[in-house]
Amino acid sequence: MSNRMNRRDCLRALGLSGLTAGLGLAATQPARAQGVGESSGFQSSVIDARKIQDARLAATIVDGKVIQPQRELPILHQTDVLVVGGGSAGVVAAIAAKRAGASVTLVERYGHFGGLWTGGLVVLILGHIVKGGKQVCQGIGEEMMRRMDKLDGAIINRRPGVNPTVDAEAAKYVMVEMIEEAGVDVFLHCWGVDAIVTQNTVRGVVFESKSGRQAILAKTVVDATGDGDLFAAAGAEFEHRSHNVGLVSRIGNLDQVDAEKAKEAPKPRRLGSATPAPGVNWVNLTGPEVDGLDLATLTRMEINHRKFIWKDVQRARQTPGYEKVYLVETAPQIGVRITRVLNGLNRVRLSDLKAATKFPDVVGVGGASNATHGEWQIPYGALVPTTVDNVLASGRCISMDMGMADLVRLIPNCFVTGHAAGVAAAVAVQDNCRPRDVDIAKVQKILRQQEAYLG
Ligand SMILES: Cc1cc2nc3c(=O)[nH]c(=O)nc-3n(C[C@H](O)[C@H](O)[C@H](O)COP(=O)(O)OP(=O)(O)OC[C@H]3O[C@@H](n4cnc5c(N)ncnc54)[C@H](O)[C@@H]3O)c2cc1C
Repeated sequence: MSNRMNRRDCLRALGLSGLTAGLGLAATQPARAQGVGESSGFQSSVIDARKIQDARLAATIVDGKVIQPQRELPILHQTDVLVVGGGSAGVVAAIAAKRAGASVTLVERYGHFGGLWTGGLVVLILGHIVKGGKQVCQGIGEEMMRRMDKLDGAIINRRPGVNPTVDAEAAKYVMVEMIEEAGVDVFLHCWGVDAIVTQNTVRGVVFESKSGRQAILAKTVVDATGDGDLFAAAGAEFEHRSHNVGLVSRIGNLDQVDAEKAKEAPKPRRLGSATPAPGVNWVNLTGPEVDGLDLATLTRMEINHRKFIWKDVQRARQTPGYEKVYLVETAPQIGVRITRVLNGLNRVRLSDLKAATKFPDVVGVGGASNATHGEWQIPYGALVPTTVDNVLASGRCISMDMGMADLVRLIPNCFVTGHAAGVAAAVAVQDNCRPRDVDIAKVQKILRQQEAYLG
């Protein structure tokens, strides 16, 4: 019997309606199972009492080693373009590929879109402008900003030459809206754990979720995990770098600081900067330079940063005038800046920024954090692995010099590389070629049609 599911079966199996993004819920109707004396409307029922896994498929211990037996995986879904990671790069990549005509599936390990932008509470959009204030991040990233312009309380500082700040919930809402409108298939709570590779060519991805281990087959994969999880699993060459790992927080009641009393003592440090929510600031935290892929380190960072932030806000509350300031929240997602960086056919180099190099395969123009630099072009080769085929990098893990990492990883620059990867992946599928062989003029034409700025 085939394990293959068609799209409708798979959406049904997930309890999702026919809505392409799978975001409209149509749960099975359980029988009432309300206990005597309960007054609430809770309901529960047995779905399958006999569903057991064959014990022979479980991992076992052989000669003191833990061994996972070979097994066939159910194919959950098939798609033209599979985007793994629903952060700023991945969401833009998925929308771009779908608008370019491919069938697209977007998979995200958490329950929302935006990655560090929203889950990490990094709400300040740096890097969309260059010297002179010209805005170089256009296309789908700018479309998100324009949609937020129309929402109440969603974005502030939307003036030419200024870095805007968004509300994370507004950003999540806009991304859902655009993903739904585009008709992208979505699986949330789904963690990409392995690449499916035959002869150096990626054919799909293995995922782990509460539904078990399943496969999605794809003609082209965009790695938008930020950490290059998929190109690494596929055997592509990369550098493993350390960087500062921080944790963002939001503090409230800054509009209730008693200005007269506040003159009595030095202003508390780390008060952050304004967000669209009145009296609420977002507070960045640089953190130590560590390995953002190391489990023990990530655990320690989460614990230490939360303790530090709580105590820091308590200190601020003891400052005259700041008694009402409080900690609204620490970000659910730890702030990992850079980990794996692809070794691509080309790379984004500091020397090219300084020389304002123009690339024949330009697929985007990067901006700066404080408008001190001119335009710098992003060559398509920075998204393409040297040896492995059918996977493209996007976002903060594309091929780049150490000296360019702190520009490449800025949110608008991740929008730009996500946009490029999505369009290139769709063109590779349409023209039945490897991503390294795409007609770059065609990719550039579609990017311009989608209002991207290529210089
Ligand atoms: C503390 C901090 C402060 C920053 N400050 C600024 C700033 O002020 N302005 C600015 O512009 N930028 C800033 N940045 C940088 C910016 O936030 C990030 O570089 C950018 O958001 C990265 O986008 P991305 O899509 O490449 O990756 P991410 O945002 O990391 O998105 C990756 C997505 O993939 C998902 N994912 C990961 N692995 C898997 C997997 N195996 N399977 C399925 N899904 C997976 C993640 O859950 C996530 O949603 C800051 C970063 C940090 C950490």
